[in-house]
Amino acid sequence: MQAVAAVLQTGRLHRYNVDADEESEAAALEREYAAWQGTNYCLACTSGGYALQLALRAAGLQAGDKVLANAWTLAPVPGAIYASGGQPVFVEIDGACRIDLTDLTAKADASGAKFLMLSHMRGHIADMEAIQAICESRSIVMIEDCAHTMGAQWNGVLSGNFGHIACFSTQTYKHMNSGEGGLLTTNDPEIAARATILSGSYMLYGRHGAGPDAAAFEDVRLTTPNCSGRMDNMRAALLRAQLPDLPSKIDAWNRRYAILEAAIAKTQGLAPIPRPAAEAYVGSSIQFQAVSLEPAQIPDLLARLAARGVEVKWFGEADPRGFTSRYDSWRYLADIDPLPNTLDALSKLLDMRIPLTFDEADCALIGAIIGEEAAKTL
Ligand SMILES: *Cc1c(COP(=O)(O)O)cnc(C)c1O
Repeated sequence: MQAVAAVLQTGRLHRYNVDADEESEAAALEREYAAWQGTNYCLACTSGGYALQLALRAAGLQAGDKVLANAWTLAPVPGAIYASGGQPVFVEIDGACRIDLTDLTAKADASGAKFLMLSHMRGHIADMEAIQAICESRSIVMIEDCAHTMGAQWNGVLSGNFGHIACFSTQTYKHMNSGEGGLLTTNDPEIAARATILSGSYMLYGRHGAGPDAAAFEDVRLTTPNCSGRMDNMRAALLRAQLPDLPSKIDAWNRRYAILEAAIAKTQGLAPIPRPAAEAYVGSSIQFQAVSLEPAQIPDLLARLAARGVEVKWFGEADPRGFTSRYDSWRYLADIDPLPNTLDALSKLLDMRIPLTFDEADCALIGAIIGEEAAKTL
């Protein structure tokens, strides 16, 4: 609150409203986030979904180009592909919430797509070295959607550092909270320059701060459209104040996750999604399969849980509620081939957010309630 008040005191909320040698809050956030992520560049913008659009455009997507994407993701992903003029080619997921590499290879070859937008959906990270190999051998640009993996790692490498571009969301339900917001990271100066102009730098990019050198802008400055979506200094100040606390928040999430995971693992009929040893996840939500329940039994279980204050989401529900994540609810997209393995995996997939307003005792109680109510169903 103090950091935001300080920005308000200056009255200068627009990121380019700075003197020549002055660093805006937005630029400072970009510099600090790039350092945390270990990338050359970071661009702050209005939302995670907007960052995904920028990523596709900055990577050179042209109208009609195909974009591979795991079929289980959140609505901003197909929305970003649609808004940037691309055509999604959805790839199956496996029973452990990850993109199916056999189907990815087959769809990459059949479609000839040159872009992959990979969501680490609900924080589950697939075999990243294998995906890199699939992309590199086919010259596919990999864009990582790290909305649920800010701070997570695969084999000791931060999620977001495997592809050409990574996108993060800082809206309220993600790992840092500025109400709304997005971050795009890349090591490529030309992509960073295009993304900066796309985000609405006008010809003020010389005052941008954390971006590439002026030379990187020479070729792109007049050939890149302005699709305004800058982050303002107030939101950047909010995020700068939170970044130092990210490691301790990750620990706090993982302690809560472990309690819920243990409770679900010992509940007959339910099974948490297995986590590979290579994955250092951030347990800001938990997914589990209702392995021995019929889909018809799930609404009743969820209603009894809700009556006791435990809100669990079911991805198998025919009509989407809250956030939409099932490809068959995005009807504005034409000709989506059926994805039976994805629908099968989602038909038993349950999900719960783990807000840090729950303490560890709350998580133990929630785990006990899930166990009791599941036992009544079986
Ligand atoms: C939240 C989220 C986004 C981006 O969301 P915004 O609301 O646009 O910030 C993108 N992908 C996934 C998987 C998400 O959960």
